[in-house]
Amino acid sequence: MKVFAAIARSSEAPFDIEECELVPPAADEVRVRVRACGICHTDSAAKLQHLPVPFPQTLGHEGAGVVEDVGSEVMGFAPGDHVIMTFGSCGRCEYCCSARPAYCDDFLAINIAGKRKGGAPLLQNGHPVGQHFFAQAAFATHAIATTRNLVKVDASLPLELLAPLGCGIQTGMGTVLNVLKPGAGTGIAVFGVGAVGMAAIIAARIAGCSPIIAVDLISERLEAARSFGASHVIDGRAADVAMQIRAITGKGVHFSVDTTGHPPVIAEATNCLRKLGTVAHLAAPPRGTQYCVPSHVISGAGLSWRGVVEGDSDIQTFIPQMVQYYRAGQLPLDRMVTTYPLSSINQAIADAETGKVLKAVVVMP
Ligand SMILES: [Zn+2]
Ligand SMILES: [Zn+2]
Repeated sequence: MKVFAAIARSSEAPFDIEECELVPPAADEVRVRVRACGICHTDSAAKLQHLPVPFPQTLGHEGAGVVEDVGSEVMGFAPGDHVIMTFGSCGRCEYCCSARPAYCDDFLAINIAGKRKGGAPLLQNGHPVGQHFFAQAAFATHAIATTRNLVKVDASLPLELLAPLGCGIQTGMGTVLNVLKPGAGTGIAVFGVGAVGMAAIIAARIAGCSPIIAVDLISERLEAARSFGASHVIDGRAADVAMQIRAITGKGVHFSVDTTGHPPVIAEATNCLRKLGTVAHLAAPPRGTQYCVPSHVISGAGLSWRGVVEGDSDIQTFIPQMVQYYRAGQLPLDRMVTTYPLSSINQAIADAETGKVLKAVVVMP
């Protein structure tokens, strides 16, 4: 069928909205009419070739929409279902079988390399457009997904607000609630409070952390962090960020979250911990990036470094849990999301990258 998709032909070229052909869903696939798709930093990283994705590209991995058609073997989804699209996984490896799909043996093949049995779902003149980015490629009016990366949501909920639950919000909230699991009254510092870091702040408030310290370079973001639950904010340009955190907490925080992947920030996120503290690393910096801290800092204080993918989310339980937080008023997505029409996708990406908006979401025509 004919669909419209945002297509980039080089790292520098903006996305253009072009007509494409979408293949029919295979036996185990679902066609989704996309209502909205969030913009996540991984989209920009792929366009800039920090991730090996071929041109022409269609990206987008925070899609949400309505099921239009299902393959002959699909169980549990039917036309009319409202769904959030998230990352794909194989469903067979030891990690998928133990409800840890973010560590799927095929994660990179499925989500970054866009591995799909039938090849790219979008075509122009018979040639593939992009791959099957995150098993969805949802910067388009329609997408093909699998039952492995779809989560049903109540039809009364606004899909343009729920779309970012598929990656960015899931990553920030999941890192706190699924990985660090802080007890009430424990201290946490979040380095970088874009959408992912802000989701970590919101989760820390839900967990009852105190203090909750936000560190960022953008003063507007720090002010926003206060409104989302940070008790203290620190300008990341200061030379003594870890010292300031120790001054607030006495011995340091129990937990820190790094969303930046920037080596000097990793050092601060480690140095601000009290004994037996844990840093969660959830950024995906360019390949080859090295993190360095003195060994005595780690071993002498019994610290832990923990890498995190997609918030360790078991999607069928954690996405509904986040929807409950939204319904209860604890996850104010309406204050996080700024919507743009698909035709303004380049502006949406620019505003997301500069921090002008917290979470940009494109809405399909
Ligand atoms: Zn797997
Ligand atoms: Zn993402």
